[in-house]
Amino acid sequence: MATDFEPSIFQDAIARLDEAAKYTDVDPEVIEQLRHPMAMLLVSVPVRMDDGSLKIFSGYRVQHNNDRGPTKGGIRFHPDVDVDEVKALAFWMTCKCAVVGLPFGGAKGGVTVNAKELSKLELERLSRGFIREMADFIGPESDIPAPDVYTNAMVMGWMMDEYSMIHRRHTPAVITGKPLALGGSVGRDDATGRGAYYCIKELEARRQWDPKDIRVAVQGFGNAGQSVARLLHADGYHLVAISDSRGGIYKPEGFDIPSLIYMKNESRKLQAVYCDGSVCEAVDAHVITNEELLELEVDVLIPAALENQITHENAERIKAHVVVEVANGPVSSEADETLLADGVLVVPDILANAGGVTVSYFEWVQNRAGYYWQEEEVHSRLREIMAREFNAIYDAMHERRISMRTAAYAHALRRLGEAVEAQGTQRFFEDAL
Ligand code: NAD
Repeated sequence: MATDFEPSIFQDAIARLDEAAKYTDVDPEVIEQLRHPMAMLLVSVPVRMDDGSLKIFSGYRVQHNNDRGPTKGGIRFHPDVDVDEVKALAFWMTCKCAVVGLPFGGAKGGVTVNAKELSKLELERLSRGFIREMADFIGPESDIPAPDVYTNAMVMGWMMDEYSMIHRRHTPAVITGKPLALGGSVGRDDATGRGAYYCIKELEARRQWDPKDIRVAVQGFGNAGQSVARLLHADGYHLVAISDSRGGIYKPEGFDIPSLIYMKNESRKLQAVYCDGSVCEAVDAHVITNEELLELEVDVLIPAALENQITHENAERIKAHVVVEVANGPVSSEADETLLADGVLVVPDILANAGGVTVSYFEWVQNRAGYYWQEEEVHSRLREIMAREFNAIYDAMHERRISMRTAAYAHALRRLGEAVEAQGTQRFFEDAL
């Protein structure tokens, strides 16, 4: 919740528009439109719990802007979800889809719930109940949800099924991130981490890195964090620190990431282990807090958990040379200025984590065509998009001597501006009079 001294997440998010607008000749009307989410639906979702009691959960869906196409964005289940956060996340989706040139606008949804406290049956009832409330607000040609924090492919499958039952027709294109057997796309499961990995590979080429010299810390070891860690480890990068919501582990020589993933998925706990087949042995590692992980002496820091992790309070203590924002909004705008002044390169979320929505777009295309691609095709098309947009933004950053974030927003604004201006702005209508 915002205070008089601290802007809300949404206010902080849209503050970046003004800075980016200085570097485009986009019509002021475009900026004004982007300050205001297009539509919001707030719902109460009643769920019958396993003990027979009834609980009511608050749910939200914000459609931010649809000038470039149907709105698109994930659904988050988390105790801290509120309308302000969902508005900010929806705004980022509008910018993200424009950054990678997808024919989508931005949206986001969420339910205020600690999903870890629900049984599987309760989780299914909540997921289906949320869609019953949202059934007239979303649709394959208007607003297409996807997974986010603490929602996964199975949840997407339940939601698609519920929507299809309500509308009495099979509608896989209403939601992406589904299980493969229910119309999901190969390559969607690791797409967010893979997109960030392709950005890091472009940076590796630009900065002539040798992966074996590069130390990486990853905050958040869920879907996105695990994927980027696994791909970097396979290329020889040293993954020296990893954390989840309970805390982190640090080992200067680097972890064997496949073993950590195996143990995390088997035991739900993050443990420093080395596995040979299914036999895992504990290895030495320092236990660290999430705060300590962020301040480690590493080359690349990858926040892959939640927003507002690097703020004015700790920005000065960040020692990484590069921050790759896999999470949405992990660096506050105040912290951004400190990092820029300290020479830290921040690869912004609206580019670094755009791999997820890009493969969601591929899934939607496949659902509508009824024709499914091979994994190789998904990977190569994703790499082409990520590399093209990364390099365009990286070059603009150097040419204009601005931060990579401002360059990314300016890149998005140019595309959004073209869509808004194609419908006419004040300038056009004044000329016509
Ligand atoms: P997830 O639920 O699979 O994983 C989240 C991870 O963060 C878990 O390991 C959890 O333990 C950890 N975590 C939670 N609170 C933490 C804390 N305070 N400190 C450290 N770790 C903490 O979620 P995900 O899908 O991997 O999403 C992670 C981030 O990436 C989110 O910001 C999300 O919006 C963003 N993102 C995800 C996708 C996607 O396709 N999954 C796409 C774009 C952006």
